[in-house]
Amino acid sequence: MANAPVQRMSQLMAKTLRDDPADAEVLSHKLLVRAGYVRRTAAGMWSWLPLGKKVLANVERIVREEMDAIGAQEVLLPALLPREPYDATGRWDEYGQELFRLKDRKGGDYLLGPTHEEIFTLLVKDQCTSYKDLPVILYQIQTKFRDEARPRAGILRGREFQMKDSYSFDLADEGLAHSYALHREAYQKIFTRLGLDYRICAATAGAMGGSESEEFLAPAAAGEDTFADCPNCDFAANTEAMTYALKPVDAEGVPAPEDIPTPDTPTIETLAASLGVPASATLKNLLVKVDGEIVAVGVPGDREVDLDKVEAHFAPAVVEMVTEADFAGRPDLVRGYVGPQGLPKVKYVADPRVAPGTAWITGANKADTHARNVVAGRDFEVDAYLDVVVVQDGDPCPKCGTGIELDRAIEIGHIFQLGRKYTDALKLDVLGQNGKPVRVTMGSYGVGVSRAVAALAEQTADDKGLCWPKEIAPADVHVVAAGKARQTELALDISDKLAAAGVRVLVDDRAGVSPGVKFTDSELIGVPTILVAGRRAAEGVVELKDRRTGEREELPVDEAIARLT
Ligand code: ATP
Ligand code: MG
Ligand code: MG
Ligand code: MG
Repeated sequence: MANAPVQRMSQLMAKTLRDDPADAEVLSHKLLVRAGYVRRTAAGMWSWLPLGKKVLANVERIVREEMDAIGAQEVLLPALLPREPYDATGRWDEYGQELFRLKDRKGGDYLLGPTHEEIFTLLVKDQCTSYKDLPVILYQIQTKFRDEARPRAGILRGREFQMKDSYSFDLADEGLAHSYALHREAYQKIFTRLGLDYRICAATAGAMGGSESEEFLAPAAAGEDTFADCPNCDFAANTEAMTYALKPVDAEGVPAPEDIPTPDTPTIETLAASLGVPASATLKNLLVKVDGEIVAVGVPGDREVDLDKVEAHFAPAVVEMVTEADFAGRPDLVRGYVGPQGLPKVKYVADPRVAPGTAWITGANKADTHARNVVAGRDFEVDAYLDVVVVQDGDPCPKCGTGIELDRAIEIGHIFQLGRKYTDALKLDVLGQNGKPVRVTMGSYGVGVSRAVAALAEQTADDKGLCWPKEIAPADVHVVAAGKARQTELALDISDKLAAAGVRVLVDDRAGVSPGVKFTDSELIGVPTILVAGRRAAEGVVELKDRRTGEREELPVDEAIARLT
């Protein structure tokens, strides 16, 4: 492998900033912008500058190596996609507002791919005709597009972002289970190599459909997912998935529509009474399930229900958020709800075993109208279940009974056993051994490549700045010329020698920048080892500093180079 050239900060197309960007809410956003890794182009759109691009490429490399290791084959499909396959699976409509739809000059409908199940299914249909062609795992690392409702968290939630998506195609269920297991192991290796702290959580299949599904969650305050962690056993679940872990709610005990009082004013007390649960309870999380599919999740604070999923389900439903004012100064109480328009037939039920709280469900029965105090059965028909399950800190772990803890986390990966949802819709068969067609079974698997960069920043940064693990860092060594010409000369000389030995070097050779500023910048940028050519440059002595521990040591140039090569 050719040695990477020395990256000189005097020529680097990026500037460090003293202050946090005004719109930044999360740590990774602040630090990645301040350290010159990324720039915001527009809401949810990011430009990767040279240092950021290197980090991103390192994540991609690790993902690629581990995918290749399980025999997955890399391909690259278009990001601009035709409508028809998404009509065939229903996702053109179901995806809701998150889908970027556009027209070409002839008026044809297109979309920008948010995920590629349909297109991969068609590719395999085109390429694989016999059982001998399967199993196959295909993957790509590609830009994805989702018109996220709230792209606030920097590159944690872009409207355009990098994802590794892969798809497995098997003849039988056992094959799918095997492909899934291969991915699960590959993901464990990927996230371990990336240096991320993560948990594997039972998850719902959500909009993807299908059965088995797990999420890889990286605990971090900036995370937008809440997960239940058992301090005693290995149980971990996204709170969205808790209904799967807990006993499913059944129709028994659901008050008949005529027994549900019509609240004149939407007080918590009347609503609680209508659901037969105590009004005193504090809701931590709300989960709404329709026909076995989670359509909405809400937690107090800044997290809101996934309106897109609700809307997709009830299209053309009208959905609005309930504001805190609606709860008369009780923002700790639930604020999620669904609002079906006209058609949807909804019945609701709170599970008192796990839900010592209440939900407020409102319906909208006129376009763009938010209707309050509607009552299931009276204002709209009932034929589907809407389970409301509340998960709280201290609720019993479904495995061992210990009180669970709720924590915030970033979803960095997600694996699904889809089964035949897509292959049925797109009729993907291959000829079986007996000459009869076999419907193929499928899995889909995603890693948030760009999100992983931000998640790593979140988990590894300290009060001085970014602090990358070695394999991910944009360089191995940050050489700082702290002084005048003599120091710069020495710094460049050392940099060349290190580079010749295969070490990736970033050198701060900027003229007219004080040593103090350079030290601060080197800590902000977060390369694991910092080598300073400073005071004792004339004697041929430099300082080596460990970015993470802050440990420093003075030693002769040759020894320092030997140490680093
Ligand atoms: P989220 O719950 O955060 O919206 P998701 O469940 O919609 O994510 P998936 O459809 O499971 O996402 O996509 C696979 C992976 O892509 C996710 O696990 C996540 O790491 C990444 N990802 C999803 N949406 C974004 C985004 N807007 N920006 C960056 N990465 C994303
Ligand atoms: Mg999403
Ligand atoms: Mg998710
Ligand atoms: Mg997901």
